[in-house]
Amino acid sequence: MNVSDIIIAGDTPGIEWRLPVFRFKGTKPGAPQAYIQAALHANELPGTALLHFLLEKLRQAESEGRILGDITVVPQANPIGAAQLHFGELQGRFDLGTRTNFNRDFPLIALGERPGLVENIDRHTAADRLKRHLLSMALGAELVLDLHCDDEGLQYAYIDEVFWPEAADLAAALDMQAVFLSDGESSAFEEAVAHAWKHEGAGERRTSLPRRLSVTVELRGTRDVYPELAHRDAEGLFRFLIGRGVIAADRQPLPAFGGVVAPLDNIEMIRAPEAGAILFHRGIGERVKEGELLATIIARPGMVDGAIDIRSPQDGLIVTRVSTRFARRHSDLMKIACAEASRAARKPGTLEA
Ligand SMILES: [Zn+2]
Repeated sequence: MNVSDIIIAGDTPGIEWRLPVFRFKGTKPGAPQAYIQAALHANELPGTALLHFLLEKLRQAESEGRILGDITVVPQANPIGAAQLHFGELQGRFDLGTRTNFNRDFPLIALGERPGLVENIDRHTAADRLKRHLLSMALGAELVLDLHCDDEGLQYAYIDEVFWPEAADLAAALDMQAVFLSDGESSAFEEAVAHAWKHEGAGERRTSLPRRLSVTVELRGTRDVYPELAHRDAEGLFRFLIGRGVIAADRQPLPAFGGVVAPLDNIEMIRAPEAGAILFHRGIGERVKEGELLATIIARPGMVDGAIDIRSPQDGLIVTRVSTRFARRHSDLMKIACAEASRAARKPGTLEA
């Protein structure tokens, strides 16, 4: 294993960021290469905990000569966000200087343009340099995993439909309860990787990418950082890497994926019609029927008509829920995976990973 730091100069005098990168050299030519990062949203730590234990397992595998394909691991992908303590709260999701989501605005390039990502990198701001380094490393691999988490959530993932159903092995290995099939239309990290692969050849757009995978994994909620979960998830990811031939082992067949698979159009984003205190009646992991009471918003406390009930627009599985108990008008409350398309309009691409 080799550990090195990528140095990213800050945008003000006296600041520089260090990005530790762990690299394992594969021994088998042609074996798939893997790139895994966590905490691109710097306050999402389940993936960092997972990677701590995964690295332990990879070191062990390396000592036994079992690393077949190159593996690159970045356990804390966003030192810039991790430093943004703002009025006592970590703001790891948006760059404070530009208000840009750290998981958006990745360059949408063709694979052949990869060398250009880090050429003359001094022209770019620190946040853009970070994105370019991350994307450049990822595009050297065939299996790319970006580990995030939701606010309160089940284990689930955003997977571009181009990788489905081949990616059911990852969903099974990580014991996911749901998979959201996305249409790959935003500038999120995972979608920038897939974009480059789809545009590998000049002018054409590939609609099938066998043996490749670029995915945003949502490792439950921000507070789901525990030794047992991190160990179990590391074990699952290790089994996935074995299954894909990155690590040698006697292949134990993975169990079949038994969770819900829903295109993004079938996700009901439940929003608050007005501001107020949120009283949830239902929680993540629960199956609800159309018309069932999900939450009550106390919009005008003490008034006879001051409370507003929110009901489920259709049958489904509650996959995420916010942890705040104060809603602003139109703020998101829940994501429900449903069998039918939602009647609400949505923007293309990953919802808000
Ligand atoms: Zn995230």
